[in-house]
Amino acid sequence: MAKAACAGEMARDARKMARAARSPRRGGLDCGGRPGAFRPKVDHAKCEGKGVCVAVCPYGVFEVGPIGEADFRALPWLLRLKLTIRGRRTARTPLADACRACGLCVAACPERAIALIETAQ
Ligand code: SF4
Repeated sequence: MAKAACAGEMARDARKMARAARSPRRGGLDCGGRPGAFRPKVDHAKCEGKGVCVAVCPYGVFEVGPIGEADFRALPWLLRLKLTIRGRRTARTPLADACRACGLCVAACPERAIALIETAQ
């Protein structure tokens, strides 16, 4: 996908996206990579559910909502308590297969809670 078309899909927070795009922490891969080659992985021990990833992802990969029970149980008790106080809100990736590895979410996350993981495809 051309960059211009990609920008057309960005009905999100343009200011946050521009800041993330300039970050040296960005993965550096162009928007338009092959969908499904990478997936974002959220570290629920770090995520505070602020939704910056939702604001910057051009492909709507993220949402913020209640953490899954298995992920919740896997956390240490202090983090479970912290999450419970926040209503168990965390970033989730319902459209992870749509990721094109642009790296905006990685650069934008204030908690450094997102990593891009190469899939086996
Ligand atoms: S790298 Fe992050 S911001 Fe970019 S498409 Fe994938 S999930 Fe969305």
